[in-house]
Amino acid sequence: MSIDVVNPHTGQVRETIETSDMDALPAWLDRSRKAQNSWAKTPFHQRCDALRAIADACDAEADVIALHIHEEMGKPLRQAVGEIKGYTSTIEGSISSMERALQIDEEKFEGATTQVHYLPIGVVAVITPWNFPFGMPWTLLIPSLLGGNSVIFKPTEIAPRTGIEMAKIFNRFLPPDVLQIVLGAGAEGSALSNADVDLIAFVGSRDTGKKIMQAASRRATRVLLEMGGKDPMIVAKDADLDKAAQYAAQASNRNTGQVCVSVERIYVEKEVAEEFTQNVLRHLKRISVGTETVSDELLNMGPLASERQLDHVENQLRAAREAGATIHGEGRRLARDGFWMRPTLVTGVNSDMAIMRDETFGPVTCIEAVDSLEEAIARANDTRFGLAATLWTGNRERARDVALQLESGMVGINRSFGGSSIGLWAGTKESGYGHTGGVSGMRSFLQPRTITQAE
Ligand code: ADP
Repeated sequence: MSIDVVNPHTGQVRETIETSDMDALPAWLDRSRKAQNSWAKTPFHQRCDALRAIADACDAEADVIALHIHEEMGKPLRQAVGEIKGYTSTIEGSISSMERALQIDEEKFEGATTQVHYLPIGVVAVITPWNFPFGMPWTLLIPSLLGGNSVIFKPTEIAPRTGIEMAKIFNRFLPPDVLQIVLGAGAEGSALSNADVDLIAFVGSRDTGKKIMQAASRRATRVLLEMGGKDPMIVAKDADLDKAAQYAAQASNRNTGQVCVSVERIYVEKEVAEEFTQNVLRHLKRISVGTETVSDELLNMGPLASERQLDHVENQLRAAREAGATIHGEGRRLARDGFWMRPTLVTGVNSDMAIMRDETFGPVTCIEAVDSLEEAIARANDTRFGLAATLWTGNRERARDVALQLESGMVGINRSFGGSSIGLWAGTKESGYGHTGGVSGMRSFLQPRTITQAE
């Protein structure tokens, strides 16, 4: 079997890649277990040195990897380099979090000493999506490996060459079989999720995440799942409307809107809805598509990653238009080769529309006017997703209270969420299961063992 990798700039096949023969999976697992045994015994500082060397090599070869990202999923080249360097630069933070995560907790009580050790889990299956073909694997591979686990890594079928190049660099510095790569799509991912692994670490769509949970239930395999979102942004009438509008334009179109924490739904208090909408329109005009130039550029956008993704976004827009929404701009693909679309603003939406309920994952900004902040909170929470949210308000005292009412794993107030080393990447409801980031996120890749010894 093989996969045609399509360049989204042109719609042409870039290369054809052979998928892995999954009959060999038991043999890979066997090798993975053996490699894990000795990797776990490798002193932590040596594991750290290997991963530092990997980060340096990825950094040094960023231009080469970035070209694969660019031609496989469409991101502008500079942003692809930025993706690589942005993630490799976090290596020291990850090492220091893992160092703390591995520390033994100890307590003396009733004539006994109890210690909690954090040990490697074993073999981790890492299954990743295409929107950040370097970054998403990085966030799962690094903690897995620092923690003394071995990995079987299945990159996305949309950008497999990026995964192959990553694995090559990793394997220059890792002992044999600590990291093995599986190439393929759903069938290969499913075989891996059904296999005798100890943790499945996944980023991707909600439907796939649920299938993985189901597969994992057979052996009660641990899962760590990030399954996307339908992130709300709330704009109160006392907000800095221009700052909020600029954020809205940027955060709904970054990576051509293909980010699990894209702004997907905006609820704005009705008194300021018109002014805010006009501001958003003004900022959307500062977004360039492809090689075009626009004055005072806010963002440059590549094509969507695949024809399937473009169809999905077009279908949501068509259905919204038919249900009475106003589409500002063409709201459909550009008449050129490849999978191109301009940023599109949609108003007059309501929560019955698929565009306000299901993940769009495209360059679309949806604005709904609401009567009050309370209504905005209720709407924001009226979803089975719950990854991130932002709140824009001039009322500092009230802001935290509102944030605590938002059923999201991460909330930003008058800015994007996150950025701190103690922050956790976590979703509520169907956006995820478990979390990464910080010290406790590192422990998602470790197995606690509590030992109580009599004095
Ligand atoms: P996205 O479209 O965002 O990449 P998917 O959920 O389709 O999200 O894919 C994410 C990853 O999950 C990809 O590597 C894909 O090949 C893999 N995958 C798809 N179907 C399954 C499945 N049934 N079991 C395990 N992995 C799967």
